[in-house]
Amino acid sequence: MKRKMKKHNVYFDLLEAMGASGCPICSLTRRASARYLAAILNEGVNDPPLRRKLSDSLGFCNAHAWELRDIGDSLATAIIYKDLVDLLADRLESGLEVSGKCPACVSTETAEKEYLASFNKFIKEKEFMDRYDTSCGLCHQHLAAVLKIVKDERSAGIIKEKETGKLKELSGQLAEYIRKKDYRNAHESPGEERDSWIRAVEKVSGGRR
Ligand SMILES: [Zn+2]
Ligand SMILES: [Zn+2]
Repeated sequence: MKRKMKKHNVYFDLLEAMGASGCPICSLTRRASARYLAAILNEGVNDPPLRRKLSDSLGFCNAHAWELRDIGDSLATAIIYKDLVDLLADRLESGLEVSGKCPACVSTETAEKEYLASFNKFIKEKEFMDRYDTSCGLCHQHLAAVLKIVKDERSAGIIKEKETGKLKELSGQLAEYIRKKDYRNAHESPGEERDSWIRAVEKVSGGRR
């Protein structure tokens, strides 16, 4: 079930994600989570190691359980949850403590770490930097995470310089958005600041998981 991402795929994944809106690590992590759950529903329903992990953690965390439920594969979900419901009944006597972490969280965190490490690795490559320039950049959480693992001062300098520029630009757009909300300026047409309030939420708190 666990899929090792190929390096060149990770590079192109990051380039592609930086071409879209929002934090690229958030969007790739979200995609990794969706793919993991889809793989469980497709192939993992009768996978003994997965069932063991689910038995240790007594199911998925709340967020992944609802993500799985929202996929809407009723039969696969029923098969997985029949085990979990029976297990819960057994554990009422022996104790409801869990001994493992949600397997979807474990898998997603592994993918997230790999994307962060690759971001750090590729930051000095021209094509990568150019794409980073035109992207929304990293959210607060992933910016902190990448700065924590960055190995050399030049890479840290590139990231800090680019992110400072992005934050200043966003701040300017927010000021413009607020200014245009004033009734005296309401006649002015919206510009690139029109969705700055959404981008600001993502920048500070990360993309929707
Ligand atoms: Zn992020
Ligand atoms: Zn989880």
